[in-house]
Amino acid sequence: MISAVEIQSRIRQIAIIGNPNSGKTTLFNALTGLRQKVGNYPGVTVEKKEGQLCFHDGTEAVLVDLPGTYSFTPSSPDEQIATDILLGGSRYSNMPDLLICTVDASNLERNLYLVSQIIDRQIPAIVALNMMDVAEESGIRIDPMVLEEELGVQVIPTIGTTGMGIKELKQAIADNRHIPWRIRSWQLPAIVEEELDELVNLLEQRVDFDRPSALLEAVQLLSTNNGHTLHHSPLPPDVLDHVRKDRERLDFMEIDRQSVFVESRYRWIKQVCRAASKTTVRSGIPLNDRIDRLMVHRIWGYVIFLGMMGIVFQSVFTWAALPMEWIGAGFDEVGTVITTLMPPGELRELIVNGGLAGVSAVVTFLPQILFLFFFLGLLEDTGYMSRAAFIMDRLMSKVGLHGKSFVPLLSSFACAIPGIMATRTIENPRDRLVTMLVAPLMSCSARLPVYTLLIAAFVPSTMVLGFLSLSGLVLLVLYLLGMAAALTMAWLFKNTLLKGPPSIFIMELPPYRRPSLRSICLQMWERSKIFLREAGTFILGVSIVLWFLASHPRVEGASPAEQLKHSFAGQAGRLIEPVIKPLGFDWKIGIGLIASVLQREVFVSTMGTVYNIQDSNDDGVSLSLKEHLQQDIDPESGEPSFTLLTALCLMVYYMLAMQCLSTVAIMHRETNGWKWPLIQIAYMTLLAYGATFLVYRAGLLLGIGA
Ligand code: GDP
Ligand code: MG
Repeated sequence: MISAVEIQSRIRQIAIIGNPNSGKTTLFNALTGLRQKVGNYPGVTVEKKEGQLCFHDGTEAVLVDLPGTYSFTPSSPDEQIATDILLGGSRYSNMPDLLICTVDASNLERNLYLVSQIIDRQIPAIVALNMMDVAEESGIRIDPMVLEEELGVQVIPTIGTTGMGIKELKQAIADNRHIPWRIRSWQLPAIVEEELDELVNLLEQRVDFDRPSALLEAVQLLSTNNGHTLHHSPLPPDVLDHVRKDRERLDFMEIDRQSVFVESRYRWIKQVCRAASKTTVRSGIPLNDRIDRLMVHRIWGYVIFLGMMGIVFQSVFTWAALPMEWIGAGFDEVGTVITTLMPPGELRELIVNGGLAGVSAVVTFLPQILFLFFFLGLLEDTGYMSRAAFIMDRLMSKVGLHGKSFVPLLSSFACAIPGIMATRTIENPRDRLVTMLVAPLMSCSARLPVYTLLIAAFVPSTMVLGFLSLSGLVLLVLYLLGMAAALTMAWLFKNTLLKGPPSIFIMELPPYRRPSLRSICLQMWERSKIFLREAGTFILGVSIVLWFLASHPRVEGASPAEQLKHSFAGQAGRLIEPVIKPLGFDWKIGIGLIASVLQREVFVSTMGTVYNIQDSNDDGVSLSLKEHLQQDIDPESGEPSFTLLTALCLMVYYMLAMQCLSTVAIMHRETNGWKWPLIQIAYMTLLAYGATFLVYRAGLLLGIGA
């Protein structure tokens, strides 16, 4: 018998490592197909992708797509994770048995830096020499055999997007042919070489390091400048003394300890590149650069960007509208079928009005998510997104973010959920968090029904300047205010809670490429899976609770409106009246606020139910909700309970308050905990309350309240 633990330990752990944009994810997808799962590394907002790799002989391996990294001298949390995993003893994952190191063939020199560090570490590795087509196009010819010879690591040429070399790569992983390791290939200046050797030997003898670890530690100790690290170092005092003396000696000889190692490595890399590659220089400006002159142009760049985004959003709204209707109709149909099949009672209502209604309200947004991720994937894959980030960088840097935050924020105009999911492209976790925190302030499409109802009822339909309708203008102002709030809050967060050193944004403009439909579809599939899983669990649970609160305790023979009024939700509306009174809201609005905690647009339907109550008192004249709101009279004061000011206050409130549990759920998922979603709810509620209060007071002073 073999125990489960033993089987577990026999499954090989393989990790893909490489520079950002070298094709890791593409190779990962090609190797694992649909057998993958996406999550986060515990405690940090860095994506973790794991997949299964099956071989012909029936064995399998676990494949991990590591965050992109340029070196083992981590400068970002992503790089830290990759480094931690490779240097062993990481809380994130086991030490991999084998590394697949993706190397961008069109950028050989820069990519080999990481490879040289892996060679030092003597971790079993295979180099996937990717982007062979791009290299070829730009006139670089690399001989994989020579490269293999020079590096002392097996090299497999690949083209991730066409699948060229994937079979060979898989075979190489299965064979795991071991090429004997060389001792460090790169040479230091003689004096430094001497000191390093001495220190490596000392570490081996005194601290019981193996050779590769001793080398790594020695390089680290000699190259860093930080006295602090020595204070807290677990190394024995005599070794630390030795290090201090070494540093002093090298400093005395005016050797730049930091760069001497980097330079020595590069000298060796250059030699390797010279041996393994041939470059034929082409005349003229490459097509890529010619396109970029236009794409990042000071004026045309913005015009093209706005045009592209315009088309994307237009299509997201118009094309998604139809499937959204189908889904809504489909759910209605299911509801009707259940209603006819099941006997009336609690269970039927729970299923139809609780579970089904809540889940359908969320799932309806699926088409928008699919469309948005299709277009974003397309723009990302062709390489245009880096250009968009580049030209938006100046604007975003004013609030302490960089260009990459722009697109997620823009996506949040459709819906904060894909917006928050799209922040995964932001490498710096602090920037990513700030972007996620402010994304729901952008006016999403779910606010539109609330806005349009209130504007139609209370904003006079006059023209401004002769051609602008006042209603349209108010709507535009609401959108602009939401955006201003998001940028201001981003600035605040960047300067308080999430203060940190400015992230170094290496603005890399990868060459334009033909997009791969396969990887775009995979991404769409992954994002929808996450979204639907959330709808099926968390949202389902909360909808049922909300349904219960809005329909219990039961009142026999009451109309739906009467029932709602006496329900727990209705009672809660009265209960919170003192709290919302300063905002100019009465208990009826309170019911709407509570019921729309799940989703903003529920406010409209709830108000519909609340106001139906007066239909029975009327002389049988059925009024539209708009007219109800306009004509409602407060029985105590005899004044209209809804005025232009109430409407403005409500719109400001909905502009700034969270009122969307799907966003909370997705925040919980993406940040791996409740801390940030709770902070987000707290700040948004405070902001909404404060702003609405101010608007109400100002309105009363100006006399719009009457
Ligand atoms: P990662 O950042 O290392 O995960 O890189 P990705 O796998 O996301 O790839 C970056 C871009 O390069 C994507 O647009 C891929 O479609 C594209 N790509 C990947 N491999 C190749 C290749 O061999 N040739 C070409 N032309 N494009 C590739
Ligand atoms: Mg990737």
